[in-house]
Amino acid sequence: MKEFLHFINGEYVKSASGRTFDNFNPINGQLIGKVHEAGRAEVDAAVAAAKAALNGEWGRLSVAERCKLLDAVVAEINRRFDDFLQAEIADTGKPHHLASHVDIPRGAANFQIFTETIKSVSTESFNMRTPDGKTALSYGVRVPRGVIAVVSPWNLPLLLMTWKVGPALACGNTVVVKPSEETPATTALLGEVMNAVGMPKGVYNVVHGFGPDSAGEFLTSHPDVDGITFTGETSTGAAIMKAAANGVRPVSMEMGGKNAAVVFADCDFQNTVDTLTRSCFENAGQVCLGTERVYVERPIFDKLVAALKERAESMVPGDPYDKATKIGPVISKEHQAKVLGFYKKAAEEGATVVTGGGVPDMPEALKGGSWVQPTIWTGLPETASVITEEIFGPCCHISPFDAEDEVLAKVNANRYGLATAVFTQDIGRANRLAQKIEVGLCWINCWFLRDLRTPFGGSKQSGIGREGGVHSLEFYTELRNVMVKF
Ligand code: NAD
Repeated sequence: MKEFLHFINGEYVKSASGRTFDNFNPINGQLIGKVHEAGRAEVDAAVAAAKAALNGEWGRLSVAERCKLLDAVVAEINRRFDDFLQAEIADTGKPHHLASHVDIPRGAANFQIFTETIKSVSTESFNMRTPDGKTALSYGVRVPRGVIAVVSPWNLPLLLMTWKVGPALACGNTVVVKPSEETPATTALLGEVMNAVGMPKGVYNVVHGFGPDSAGEFLTSHPDVDGITFTGETSTGAAIMKAAANGVRPVSMEMGGKNAAVVFADCDFQNTVDTLTRSCFENAGQVCLGTERVYVERPIFDKLVAALKERAESMVPGDPYDKATKIGPVISKEHQAKVLGFYKKAAEEGATVVTGGGVPDMPEALKGGSWVQPTIWTGLPETASVITEEIFGPCCHISPFDAEDEVLAKVNANRYGLATAVFTQDIGRANRLAQKIEVGLCWINCWFLRDLRTPFGGSKQSGIGREGGVHSLEFYTELRNVMVKF
């Protein structure tokens, strides 16, 4: 039986209380192992180790030396690529092709981009005359913020955790990570990587557990945490902001979404259908940037619904270890129940179920997993639950529209504002909409395409702050002003 331990001050440790919880494989429902649940004692120890490391060897390294260590982390993740891949598939049930092409390579890239960024970042400086005729030079210095709490979700565990840890460490901070209780494996494994490259003790720490009254709450309310970076549900983000208010700690929040796609009749039809197939169904719809509302210009509405139906039906749920499998299970039985609850609600609210709507018939060995069918609905009013609320499953509702203003109003009539994808050959219209749609990310004729130097984050209730490239420095460093008179 596998055991997932905390990683504190360079060592794997058990909980003093002996408390553990079960970690299940969503592919077949079988027990993967026991996860140690951190109490206040483990969180205190992890934060103390992170605080001490700031003033130790790590704090004395030059930027170049720090980056050399982080470059070694990249090399070590790549060397242990298969270990990370197997751990991520077992925890999440995501298909081999996805984890091997997206999750693990991005886990490594998330360190690389920020070592490149930090090495070349500059600060401003101004010269001025003082009233007594002398000179003063004012310049900015970026210093690490301190101990950063990283609270991460289960949908892209390694990718989203390293998206925070990469810049935090590149900027000279130390971290305590609280991975999702559903997916402890790759965050724990990264501790081995840190030790293998000679990372000073206490720079990278991991505590396992849940949110309220557990590791998440203990960590985010800890007075020695200097900043909290979070990815997860908006309601959780709100709870963490309350904890952060105590002590006035800054937060970076990447939260929920209800992303739309807008398809005009002049689009490149094949590219649109290919892209929507990914944005609606990839990772079983458990991508924060995924599309759950599709708006299609009326002349091609029927054609698009038929094409997407065919593609959804080709996404046959299957064994994630089979390299041909395109869609795996959702993360847990609990999440399966949530998604199926929305499927039921859509039917009750009068949706036309174009395809799916239930649980697929799986082979005997996989029957214990948390499977749901890729699902498409049409015919619902804009007030329906599956059009307004985040489902986080392999499903979308498709509505027709007649005019640009009409669709813009519908897209913006949502409390979230994470991402949108617009499909059209009219570049003027595309840019006009990109400037009016209330989101942090707008894709035109594509989806999930990222240049890691550019800002990433959500508007409205989808987030606070931007991370990526130099934008991450706003959160992971303090910009100090130095004024010299001479
Ligand atoms: P979640 O909010 O349930 O959990 C996220 C993390 O917060 C977990 O580690 C959890 O244990 C912890 N947590 C829960 N309650 C807490 C509390 N009170 N105090 C401290 N920590 C607490 O989210 P999830 O279900 O793991 O992930 C899915 C959600 O994440 C979706 O809403 C999705 O849209 C969002 N998400 C957003 C982005 C983005 O970039 N905007 C990316 C991925 C996922």
